[in-house]
Amino acid sequence: MKIKEVRTFVVDCFRTNWVFVKIVTDEGLYGIGEGTLEYKEPTLVAAIHDLEYGLIGKDPLNTELLWHDNYRDAYWRGGPVFMSALAAVDQALWDLKGKYLNCPVWQLLGGKVRDKVPCYANGWFSRRGQAGSLEPEEFAACAEEEIANMHWKGLKWDPFGSAWRQLTLPELKRALRCVEKVKEVVGDKCDILIECHGRFDLPCALELSRQLEPYGVKWMEEPIIPDSLEAYAEFRRHSRVSVSGGERLYSLQQFRTAVAMGAFDYLQPDVSHAGGLTEVKKIAALADTQHLPICCHNPSGPVANAATLAFAASTPLYFYHETMSQDVTWRREICNEDVKIEDGFMYIGDRPGLGVDIDEKECLKHPFKATHLRHYVGTLTQIRPDDAVSYYKK
Ligand SMILES: [Mg+2]
Repeated sequence: MKIKEVRTFVVDCFRTNWVFVKIVTDEGLYGIGEGTLEYKEPTLVAAIHDLEYGLIGKDPLNTELLWHDNYRDAYWRGGPVFMSALAAVDQALWDLKGKYLNCPVWQLLGGKVRDKVPCYANGWFSRRGQAGSLEPEEFAACAEEEIANMHWKGLKWDPFGSAWRQLTLPELKRALRCVEKVKEVVGDKCDILIECHGRFDLPCALELSRQLEPYGVKWMEEPIIPDSLEAYAEFRRHSRVSVSGGERLYSLQQFRTAVAMGAFDYLQPDVSHAGGLTEVKKIAALADTQHLPICCHNPSGPVANAATLAFAASTPLYFYHETMSQDVTWRREICNEDVKIEDGFMYIGDRPGLGVDIDEKECLKHPFKATHLRHYVGTLTQIRPDDAVSYYKK
């Protein structure tokens, strides 16, 4: 069996565009992967097709060799675009291998260590329609509804509006009031996770950490501008609130440095950006040497979720599964994902491969639409259309 063709699909999904890859063999068998990289979709597609040279004519079952050779032969290593391309291809090859052997990918990664993973929700604050939550009371109303309906184990959100580097006193007070309002309605029913999207400088992040301490926040995610791991290590030394990060690290080597420096309490590699399942399994082994939990960054589409779930299923130190609480109506049309959520847990499926296929015709009905970063213009919560729906079975 040899790889014959590499196809890519870019599908508008309102917040961003999903990027899927389909690797087809001369025997007709194929695998699906996802590398969704916001604001870089056409670049990512080009990077995936750059890899064709190292894929066409090769045996798709040699996942380790193909990863190694494609990484080596890129010469220009690393970075979000290349590592997401490699990740998407790697996922597709694992999917293909699972289908070839008629078993789920988690079986090939060591078998199941669990039947379900605890989920925290993201995107829940968009329940109020396209305008998204802006006022603390609106966040609280959405939080109350989500926890009553879905019993998520945690709620994550960014309450910082358009802030960058520093918070003014009114901005700080407004953010704290938002946390307070949400905490009032959810009580001890779920964890509170504060997403900072890499906004702040070190003194601002530390002040914020002190102010958030009374609310029992589970973690502050990317509290500091992401380029300096030294600043993260310094933050972690002085903060009594735990710190999570890693969605903007793309390789085992980068995670090795972060772990050695003590930059994070919770590691958040993305299976679509950090080289795929082949690389993230190695990152898990590294994390295990310091008993650091992994909570993958997982805000994207159906194939990325399936790949993350295969990793979660087979990895003892996996802790918390990021889950978007709703999505565009056509998520149900463009794929056959079978996601079951009950009592805040997502269940591990038994289908061969990654267990999800895309419908090419349906994908083509939702062509690429350019989107832009919403973080610093105050429209961060406007990430779902008015008619957004659940994409899972309760
Ligand atoms: Mg994040």
